[in-house]
Parts: sequence; structure tokens; C-alpha cells
Amino acid sequence: METVTEKPWLRHYPESIPASINYEIATLQSYLKRAAVNFPDKSALHFMGKEMTYKEVYDNALKLADQLRSLGVSKGDRVAIMLANSPQAVISYYGALFAGAIVVETNPLYVEREIEHQMNDAGAKVMICLDLVYPRIAKVQEKTNLEHIIVTGIKDFLPFPKSVIYPFIQKRNTGLKVEVAYNDHLHSFTDLLKRGEVREIPNDIDPMEDLALLQYTGGTTGPAKGVMLTHYNLTVNTQQCEEWMYKLVPGEEVVLAALPFFHVYGMTTVMNLSIRMAFKMIIIPKFDAKGILKAIEKHKATLYPGAPTMYIGLLNHPNIKTFNLSSIKACISGSAPLPLEVQTTFEEVTNGRLVEGYGLTETSPVAVSNLLWGERRQGSIGLPWPDTDVAVLSAETGEVAKPKEVGEIVIKGPQVMKGYWKRPEETQAAFRGEWFLTGDMGYMDEEGFFYIVDRKKDLIIAGGFNIYPREIEEVLYEHDSIQEVCAIGIPDPYRGETVKAFVVTKEGMDVTKEALDHFARQHLASYKVPQYYEFRDELPKTMVGKILRRVLVEEEKKKAENL
Ligand code: AMP
Repeated sequence: METVTEKPWLRHYPESIPASINYEIATLQSYLKRAAVNFPDKSALHFMGKEMTYKEVYDNALKLADQLRSLGVSKGDRVAIMLANSPQAVISYYGALFAGAIVVETNPLYVEREIEHQMNDAGAKVMICLDLVYPRIAKVQEKTNLEHIIVTGIKDFLPFPKSVIYPFIQKRNTGLKVEVAYNDHLHSFTDLLKRGEVREIPNDIDPMEDLALLQYTGGTTGPAKGVMLTHYNLTVNTQQCEEWMYKLVPGEEVVLAALPFFHVYGMTTVMNLSIRMAFKMIIIPKFDAKGILKAIEKHKATLYPGAPTMYIGLLNHPNIKTFNLSSIKACISGSAPLPLEVQTTFEEVTNGRLVEGYGLTETSPVAVSNLLWGERRQGSIGLPWPDTDVAVLSAETGEVAKPKEVGEIVIKGPQVMKGYWKRPEETQAAFRGEWFLTGDMGYMDEEGFFYIVDRKKDLIIAGGFNIYPREIEEVLYEHDSIQEVCAIGIPDPYRGETVKAFVVTKEGMDVTKEALDHFARQHLASYKVPQYYEFRDELPKTMVGKILRRVLVEEEKKKAENL
């Protein structure tokens, strides 16, 4: 199965979206340079009251690149960045790229064990981090190849106390007082910027071949792997995004940057797209519904890319009606299924369009999405993006499945990764020819719209029946009292596995297990009806707001082992 000859999805493309794009072959950093040349005085970002123009961001990135070179960074070296969304996160990313390095984004919530694994796997030479996380890095530095650490604090740019801005990091460091004694291997970010020269470093980067990013993913199956994304992969995805959202105006849009830049979803659809199109980013370091509602109103934000929980969070804010959200034009929700009710309610309160998209770190990340302005199907993730082939592999024959037949979703396109860093076996296992095997189960309808049924590995097998947790969750989301739900399989001596649902109710609403059971029985075959419910105040989530199903699965496994 090398090619897909039938591409029914193309029939639905409006005239403004090409089936194939003539891509600009460029480095990511060339986007920043172009924005600084074309829009030097335009505000590139706003962060807690401070604005920074495109020229300032560009100059700072060049200064950092100059200093990284002085520290011995050369083409292909890995530079890790462990920062929450902030001006420093943007400057560090582009600064490292201008120096010719490969960026390794590191989640600021990582604990020592995770930092050590990632630094060693990537072979990172330099780390740029927030002062609050520095003590964790210092503890493991000796066990890694990190030669230089560059530390930045929120105080570098603003006078606010850190505890106001990074409570989520502070939580893990209660009582921490950060004292950093700088030396030849430990540097202050602001000092480097003061010393750095604004000069362009010549490099011979081949956008098609050279890596821009090693992005770690796949923590569910053993240790995280580094996804190798080239400049081409990432710039292509940004250009596809631009074509898909063809009504956006260069230099005009205001993007609410609440998705973390250290995840490829926020990196591409917020940071790289904004820099390419000279939009203004309103940088939000931590999701906070009220702060975001205020920011949309104040800055007249036009775009708010997010994950479903980020829309749910806004919609459940008791005072949402008091904010003017009419500036919002378009939002793509990704990383997890978007409940229909959330989509329609959000569109009502904003007058903008909210559609669901789909992708993975391995696809830079977007591969499929609904049309923002055009036909869309309920419950569908939409249509493959330009130049992107998507097929479903039948579990029975291993060949392309018939429409509506569920199988594994596979993707071929210019945004698909080069492979996993230093893991040839895993890379080989992730591909069949040029097709990337996503591990997601889904189907295509006759019209070419795709649907996700579930993750292959999340499938629950109860008494021999296959149960897709997503189906149960969708039913329960329709219940008035439910804000969030996650269904998992738990060990059961009789059925092998049985279904348990974790439920967060909407503020001020109560519901009993019996009422949910009654509701579920009306909409689901009895073998799918959850046998157990657990009510919680919140569910564990990733930084992009995706519910961490595996954490709940692990908790239940442990409970079962201790019985
Ligand atoms: P990540 O690599 O962290 O971006 O996670 C990718 C995974 O997120 C995919 O393999 C899917 O399981 C899931 N995912 C992304 N978008 C969607 C969506 N719209 N609906 C359901 N699952 C999604």
C-alpha cells in the first residue's frame, strides 16, 4: 500500500484551499528575520503588561545565538529549553536555531529522573531554564553531558513575584529560594543578552534534512523517545496551517498563546504560525479561565488554539457572559476529542468558529482537521490537510480498509517525522514504507471524513467484547451534570476487564452513581455501561490539558495489586 489513489476528502476543499502547496523551503528562524524586516515595530508579544516588538525579539535571539556560539555550540548540537510560556521561551527557541542547534524542549514539570533521561538520550550540551527549576537540573547535571546552564527568572523581564506567575511550578518547590552563583558554566540569561552581538551567524542548514527539534513523546510505552523533526517538517506544517486558515491576515491577528510552546502543538499552531505571519501573541504562562477571558476582551484576541479542556474551562466560568468575546474568529481544538456541546456553546458565546483537528508529535503535529469555513461532520476530526494522505489499515487484512471499517490510522505527508532519535528499531516499527502508523483506531466515511474511535492501546476488552472508552465518555458528556469524564478498563476477575468512569461534575451540580447508571443504560449496550464510578474534583492532565488516562490506569492497577 504505497499510495492512496482515491482521495474523496479533496471534494470538500473550498476553492481557497489548494490540494497541494508549493512550499517555501526555509528554516524556521528565517520566519523571524522576515517578520523583523517587514514589521520591525509591530508588537510580537505581550507578556503580563510588557510588549516586545519583532525587531526586539529578533535582536535578542541573535544576541543569544552569538553567545551560544561563544559557549561552543555549533551546528547540530542539542540545546535544551525548560521554560514556561514567556518572552524568554520565544527568544531561546529562535536563538538556539540561529546558532544552528537542535532544540530539545523539556517540560518544566519534569522531575530529576525525567530530566536526566531526556538530557542523556538527547546528548544535550546546553540547557536554558527557569531559575525555579534550576535546582532540579543541578542535582542531575553531573550525570549528563550538560556543559552549560543558562538561567533566567521572571524577574529578568518583570517585577512581579514569581509565586504569582508560576504557581504550578512553585507547587513542586514549596519554600524554595533560588540562589544561583554564576560561573564559567552557569550563566545568567540577561547577562548573555547584554554581552551578545546582533550579528547573523552563517550556517549551512539544509531545511529538508537538518533537524530543528527533538521532541520527546511516548511516555506511555517505556521511556520517552525523541521525535526528529526537520526545519522542513515544521515549516511545512505552519504553511499548511496558514492555507487551512486562509482568512487570517498577516500582521493583523492576535493569538492567545495559552498552549505551551514546549509541546509541538503550541509550538507550531501558536508560536511558529504567529512568527511566520507576524501576528501578536498574548503570552499566558498558565491556564487560568478568568485571566484568559479578560485577555480575550482586553486584547481583542482573534485566535485561541487549545485543547478541549481549555474551552470547557472557559465555558464553565460563572461570569463568562460578562466578557465580550466577539473578537474570536477561529479556533482549532486538538490533542483529544472535542465534545459537540462544547463546540456549539463556544461558537455561540464568541461568534467565531471552533473546529476539531487531529495529529501527533510525530506529524509536527497537525495532519487532519475540520474546515473552519465549510462543511463539517459531527464527531469527525475532519479532512486530511493538503499533501497529506491518510488511510485506515484493516485489522483483518492489513490492507486499506473499506469506508466505515475501523482500523489503524496511518499517515503519509511532508510533516511526518524523520524517525525517533537513535532508535532505529522503534523507527522501523512506526512505519510501513512511507506510512506512519499512528496507533490510533478510526475510520473514514464514504465522503472522506475521518473519525477517531480510540487509541489502540486504550481499548478495553471486557468479557471478549471490544469497548472504546471514547464512546462511553461521549455518552456521559451529554449528561447535564458532567464537566469531565474519563473511562478506563480495570482488572476484573470475571470479565478480564470492566469499565470504570472517573467523573468531575459541573460546579454546584451533584449527581448520583445510580442516576448516571440509569442514563448510561439508555444509550449504551449493557456490556459497555460502567460498573464503577469515582467522583473527583479534578482529573490528572498534561500541560496541554489532555486527560492523563494512563495515570488513572496505573492508580487502579496499584490498587488491584495491593488487594
Ligand atoms: P501528542 O503526540 O502528545 O500530540 O499526542 C498524540 C495523540 O493525541 C494522538 O495519537 C491521539 O491519540 C490523540 N489526539 C490528538 N488529537 C485528537 C483528537 N482530535 N481526537 C482524539 N484524539 C486525539
